[in-house]
Amino acid sequence: METQSRIRSNSSTDAEGEHRRPLLKFEEMKRDLMKISQEKSKMEEIYKTSRRKRDEEHKELVREIKSKNNAVESVLLCGICHDKIIRPYTIQFQHTFCVGCISQVSRNENNHRSCPLCRKPFRLILPVTQHNTVIEEIKSIFGRLNE
Ligand SMILES: [Zn+2]
Ligand SMILES: [Zn+2]
Repeated sequence: METQSRIRSNSSTDAEGEHRRPLLKFEEMKRDLMKISQEKSKMEEIYKTSRRKRDEEHKELVREIKSKNNAVESVLLCGICHDKIIRPYTIQFQHTFCVGCISQVSRNENNHRSCPLCRKPFRLILPVTQHNTVIEEIKSIFGRLNE
């Protein structure tokens, strides 16, 4: 009788154990899946943040380039015709205009003209044979950039 009941109880414990094991496995799997999904959302958050940061940096860069472009463009504009300077002529290390435009500026009796931008007097010896090569250079580079 005793032996029989032990056997029965043993077998019932075994059966319970067999029954429990897959449940434990399932719990483990569930925990792992939870961990994975948490990791996944963490990664997604990191990715989103870095993408946002990259987008902001990109926008900042575009703004910077645009403002630099505008600064360069304004240097390349003639103060008289307000167009891109053709054959740039710089008055005694001051303002730069197209040769054609600056030679139209009227002279006084002493053969002096005044700068249309700052009114400083200057003498223009015609024909102009030398041009501001720096401005010419920037113009050609800038032209290529704007293509
Ligand atoms: Zn001009
Ligand atoms: Zn000037």
